[in-house]
Amino acid sequence: MIVSKKILVFVESGENAIKPFAFEAIHAARILADALGGSVDALCLGIEKSLADSLVHWGADSVKIFVNPLFETITLEKALLSIEPLVNEQKPYAVFFSATTYGKELSASLSAKLNVGLLTDCVSIDLGKQGEVLVRRPVYAGKAISHVTLQGSGPHILSLRQNVFRGPSPDISRIGKVKLIDFKIPDDRLVLKIREVVRESGGQMDVTEARVVVSGGLGMQKPENFILLEDLAQVLRGAVGASRPVVDNGWRNYSNQIGQTGRTVQPDLYIACGISGSVQHLAGMSAAKCIIAINKDPNAPIFSVADYGIIGDALEILPLLTEEFRKVLGSSG
Ligand SMILES: Cc1cc2nc3c(=O)[nH]c(=O)nc-3n(C[C@H](O)[C@H](O)[C@H](O)COP(=O)(O)OP(=O)(O)OC[C@H]3O[C@@H](n4cnc5c(N)ncnc54)[C@H](O)[C@@H]3O)c2cc1C
Repeated sequence: MIVSKKILVFVESGENAIKPFAFEAIHAARILADALGGSVDALCLGIEKSLADSLVHWGADSVKIFVNPLFETITLEKALLSIEPLVNEQKPYAVFFSATTYGKELSASLSAKLNVGLLTDCVSIDLGKQGEVLVRRPVYAGKAISHVTLQGSGPHILSLRQNVFRGPSPDISRIGKVKLIDFKIPDDRLVLKIREVVRESGGQMDVTEARVVVSGGLGMQKPENFILLEDLAQVLRGAVGASRPVVDNGWRNYSNQIGQTGRTVQPDLYIACGISGSVQHLAGMSAAKCIIAINKDPNAPIFSVADYGIIGDALEILPLLTEEFRKVLGSSG
C-alpha cells in the first residue's frame, strides 16, 4: 500500500548551474506523481533562487534551496547531511537521483544510512494494473533487464539513467513554491575539508551530457589522431569518448572512458571509431539511439550493435565525414 505520494528529487548542480539531467529526474518524478496523485519536491544545494523556476517548469511543485556558504563546493558528506534529515522528516514515497557517478554514490550512501532499498540506473518507472510501481533497470553489464516491483511505503531510493527520461519541453506557465532555507551544518560534522578546487583544463563537454559522442579505440593508432575525433565532435557539438585501453595508455583522460568500468552513455548518436566492440565497451554505449561504427575489420563485434557500419580506415574516413557534416550543418555546426 502506498501511503506518502511525494517524490523527492535531489537536484545535482555545480558552478551555480543545474545539471541538465536533473530536469530529466524532475520530469520522471512528475509522471509518476501524476499517476499516483502525488507531488514532486526538489532539493537543491546552494544555487541561486532564479534557477529554481526551471525546475518548476519541468514539473516540480516545490523547490527547497538549502543555503550555506559551505555549498560553494558540494561533497558527498555535505549532500548526505542535507538530504538525510529531509527524507526522515518528509517520509517521501521515493527519492530520485541522476545515475551520475556522484548521484550513484550519494544514493547508495543514503540507502545505507536509512537502511532502505536502492535501485540504480533505472530506465523505466511505470504504474502497473494494480497501482503498483514497476521499475526496469539493466543488469549484468546490460545483458539482461531486471523488472522490480516496489513494495511497501518507502522511501524507495532510485537513481535514473541519464538521457532516458527526457521530456518534450518545459511548461513555462507552471507555478510552484520556491523556498530558500538557511541550512546549518555544524563544523564538527564535516570530516572532509576542501582546500582548493583545481579544474580540468580544456573545458570539454561531459560525455554523459552530450547528445553526440564520437569515440575512439586502439584503432586510432596514436593519441595525435584523436584530433580527428575532436574535429568531428566539434562540428556535431558532441563530446569525445574512448575505449579503456586508450585511457590505460594515457591517450585520453579517464573521464572519457566509456564502458563497464567507465561511463555509461545514452546519446542520440554514438560514433565508434577503431573500437572492436567488446562486451565491456558495449555495456556503456549499446543503448545509444543510433550507433555508427567505423572499423577496418568487417567481422568486428561492434557491427552487431551498429545501425550504420562503415568498413574502412577511420583515419581516412573521419576527415571526409567531418567535411560532409560541416557542409550540411554549415559553419554554425
Ligand atoms: C573487467 C574489465 C573491464 C573492462 N572495462 C572496459 C570499459 O569500461 N571500456 C572499454 O572500452 N573496455 C573495457 N575493458 C576492455 C575490453 O575488454 C577491451 O579490451 C577493449 O574494449 C578493447 O578496446 P578497443 O576496441 O579500443 O581495442 P581493440 O579490441 O584492440 O580493437 C581495435 C579495433 O580497431 C580496429 N582498427 C584498427 N585499425 C583501424 C583503423 N585504421 N581504422 C578503423 N578500425 C581500425 C580493429 O579492427 C579493431 O576492431 C574491460 C575489460 C575488463 C576485463
